[in-house]
Amino acid sequence: MECISCKKESIKGIKFNCPECKKETYRCEKCRALSIDYKCKCSYSGP
Ligand SMILES: [Zn+2]
Ligand SMILES: [Zn+2]
Repeated sequence: MECISCKKESIKGIKFNCPECKKETYRCEKCRALSIDYKCKCSYSGP
């Protein structure tokens, strides 16, 4: 899966749904641990 924050392929991470558009989004463990902001295609961004 490709992390939405760093765009790197990762097998460790979490999937969640964007609160705005409900699209399934994936973020790797590292970005999650560092609370790096993500930005969804719908322009929603969050920690
Ligand atoms: Zn990442
Ligand atoms: Zn979205």
